[in-house]
Amino acid sequence: MQAVKTQAAKRTLGQLIRRLLLLDLFKGLMVTFKYNARALYEPRDGGNPNQAIYTEQYPLEPARVSERFRGAPRLNLDPENGTTLCIACDLCALVCPVDCIEVGSLRREVRDGEKVNKKKVLTTFIFDTSRCMFCNLCVEACPTDCLELTQSFELAVYHRAGFRWDREMLEKGINYVRYAK
Ligand code: SF4
Ligand code: SF4
Repeated sequence: MQAVKTQAAKRTLGQLIRRLLLLDLFKGLMVTFKYNARALYEPRDGGNPNQAIYTEQYPLEPARVSERFRGAPRLNLDPENGTTLCIACDLCALVCPVDCIEVGSLRREVRDGEKVNKKKVLTTFIFDTSRCMFCNLCVEACPTDCLELTQSFELAVYHRAGFRWDREMLEKGINYVRYAK
């Protein structure tokens, strides 16, 4: 019993000395100092490798998002001829659980060599980014890899109407303000 009491007294004395000498404070400061010193010479992944700091310089530099992040929608064009890859099948609109896609189309006569076929042609495409929950169901349903959710997350607008992206915005993307140093 006496030995237990002596040990407890020693522990209390040790804790008192640590507090008086602010040892825990200096231990914490050493961790901060170590990371700051490393930041001065260690190159960063991405961003500006010459800038020895850990924090991201958004919006001066594009912010990094995870590989599987789903953001702003895009309608992809055929890289060979620049025409839309959308065949106006309406599958994306049908599968969307919150009805935020509207596909407009017309049946037009399209000449294919000697033949003249009637084909559904895309006229309008509306994507309401304010209602979308980025579940990716529409992208998975798209048979032509036309619809895509990109890694862009800058969807804020000044007015509600700006949330409704039309075909032109979906094909060209938004012109974001880019800040320079
Ligand atoms: S990501 Fe989901 S919620 Fe958004 S448009 Fe596609 S299906 Fe609809
Ligand atoms: S599913 Fe794809 S091809 Fe069909 S209407 Fe939607 S974007 Fe166009």
